[in-house]
Amino acid sequence: MNLIALPAFADNYIWMVHDDARAFVVDPGDAAPVAQALEQRNLQLAGILVTHHHPDHVGGVDALRPRLAATGGVVHGPARERIPEPFVPLRGGDVVMLLGLSFTVIDVPGHTAGHIAFAQQGVAEAPLLFCGDTLFSAGCGRLFEGTPAQMATSLAALAALPADSRVCCTHEYTLSNLRFAAAVEPANADIAAHAAHCQALRAEGVPTLPSSLALERRINPFLRCTEPAVVASARREGAANDEPVAVLAALREWKNRFR
Ligand SMILES: [Zn+2]
Ligand SMILES: [Zn+2]
Repeated sequence: MNLIALPAFADNYIWMVHDDARAFVVDPGDAAPVAQALEQRNLQLAGILVTHHHPDHVGGVDALRPRLAATGGVVHGPARERIPEPFVPLRGGDVVMLLGLSFTVIDVPGHTAGHIAFAQQGVAEAPLLFCGDTLFSAGCGRLFEGTPAQMATSLAALAALPADSRVCCTHEYTLSNLRFAAAVEPANADIAAHAAHCQALRAEGVPTLPSSLALERRINPFLRCTEPAVVASARREGAANDEPVAVLAALREWKNRFR
């Protein structure tokens, strides 16, 4: 099974998984890079997964739909959001099978009210995690429709998945997130080391993704809301108390104005 990050727009990735005959894609905001990748590799489109309703995640769905006809593939998306119809509505706990891979749906509200993630089940190593705009490498999504408490619960659900999970998020925000992470935790050597690594990758035009949950636990301030250094920085930036939700809320607001 092959995993490819197709660049789209300024900083999106459309994830494609294929077995050299068939492929599925996650959050196709634009149909063109998907169509090109399918044609280059002579692949049929067997399904589309959608994490949330934002246009940069669903904008290519309808244009790709005719390509599903040859395989009988369908569009899967969050039950509680407006996704281009028709689609199979999914809720937390549902299971999706694609190309012989099994994914459990996890409800991860926060960035949007009905955002879902897809966590691969039943593999011994490096399960895939498609987490949309909820968990980014070294960061998390903006709270457009949800609360800090919801995002904290959603991130905790993702962080509880296997440490070697491959974190396939939808935006190349890693370097700017790492600059923020270094401001939160100036003494965290893992952040500095990973920033140097990612700068080298980006200089070559290589994605910094997928990340792993093991790495995110060491470098992502939004997964480290109980670390004393993170709590101290959040308090300095106005966190009301030491509780993880208050810390996350303060970090998120700080990040929104961080340049
Ligand atoms: Zn979004
Ligand atoms: Zn997005």
